[in-house]
Amino acid sequence: MKHLQKNIRRIAILLCALFVLLASYGAYSISTYGNRWFASSANTFARAKKKDVIAGSILDRNGVVLAASENGSRVYQEDLAARKAVVHAVGDSMNNVNNSAESFFATYLYGFEMSFLERAGCALKGEARRGDTVQLTIDSRLASYVASIFPSGKAGAVVVMNYKTGEVLTEQSFPNFDPMNITSAVRSDPQKPFFNRAIQGLYTPGSTFKIVTAASALENLADIESLSFNCTGILQLGERMITDAGTNLAEGKITQHGDLNLKKAFQVSCNNTFARVALQLGDQRLRKTAEQFGFNDNFLFRDIVVENSSYPTANRNEGEIAWTGAGQSALSVSPLHMCMIASAVANQGVMMEPRMLLAATAHTGSQRAAFSTRVYKTPLTKERAAVLKDYMRAVVTSGTGAAAQLSGIKVCGKTGSAEIDTQENTNAWFVGFLDEESSPYALSIVVEDGGGGGSVAAPIARQILSWLLDHGY
Ligand SMILES: [Zn+2]
Repeated sequence: MKHLQKNIRRIAILLCALFVLLASYGAYSISTYGNRWFASSANTFARAKKKDVIAGSILDRNGVVLAASENGSRVYQEDLAARKAVVHAVGDSMNNVNNSAESFFATYLYGFEMSFLERAGCALKGEARRGDTVQLTIDSRLASYVASIFPSGKAGAVVVMNYKTGEVLTEQSFPNFDPMNITSAVRSDPQKPFFNRAIQGLYTPGSTFKIVTAASALENLADIESLSFNCTGILQLGERMITDAGTNLAEGKITQHGDLNLKKAFQVSCNNTFARVALQLGDQRLRKTAEQFGFNDNFLFRDIVVENSSYPTANRNEGEIAWTGAGQSALSVSPLHMCMIASAVANQGVMMEPRMLLAATAHTGSQRAAFSTRVYKTPLTKERAAVLKDYMRAVVTSGTGAAAQLSGIKVCGKTGSAEIDTQENTNAWFVGFLDEESSPYALSIVVEDGGGGGSVAAPIARQILSWLLDHGY
């Protein structure tokens, strides 16, 4: 009998433990994936409930109303250019944009976070329920400015964030559209205006990835900084021929950098040298560094859904590994993730989680959610971050990113001209930051089929950074 009691007690304890485990897993899942579940258009429960609630407003960081409810429908800013500029961050009432604030913050906007007492209060007073006001980290004035200078007719993306806090000041995709007049031309546009390239677009990083290759070299190869390389312009590895920007074999033009060290190779963006550094590192070590920066991770940020970046995991030949070191060959990354990579260099090696939610406030005035920062990863030591910062500074003072220069201000960056299919068609990249204590801002720019990063994306960076400084950032 005693034996049996003991066994029953054991089973009871085991069941309790299992229950606690399940309950905590459930709580964890809801806190981690809750907004993703609510944002899903397949969620019919949320869709049905939305009808009973007056949706809350969406504000920018300065209190500008970006979206509001008027007589049962959703209205956006009066100024056409202004509402188009923030459309991917804010979204539209039909949820054509995936994971915008309109859908991702639906739990607040539609009052799903209201307590039982708040709901009962509304019911007693016979009032309709009001959703929470959501204040975003974005600055709509900045968004309007960026839209006004982005090359017209081109597709691409721009992200600006505070590298100390992770606050996203703007995340924009081009082309954009008017959320209050969605025409059939917009729906059938081959450039896909609904698609948010800033967070969902996966691009070949091109030479901006040399930040990661250089980080890996500094970590894994002793004395790499004192080594000398010789760029002869052409590096043949099996079927893969690696050349530098400006080379055109048909016209007999070959760009050669001659003797140079790692810093100089970074500054002039020498593919030849970075290919050889990648071969010295080997696929495994380079992949490991890329993963420290967030490649191959399943991003689960609290406020923002970012497409996962990838570094190939299959066994690859020398030519492919070398080409990866220069930022090509099956690598893919979103503009927002590239902004985070530049941010880590700027922020002494610490990569902050990107954030879009400044606050959520109930209609009674009580605060539902408040901004808080969180470290996502620490891919670099302070020392290595300082070395890379110095490299990125050299790119802007006297390298491929000179067009991003601002007099009297420390601008750091890296250009990229990522091949799409042929060397004639390239996506223009620039990622960089202000190395200024009181203006901790990083940015990432992609212009699809734009040409050279240095000639097309770097001047846009200079204009945006200049705007930030002129507007109190
Ligand atoms: Zn070279």
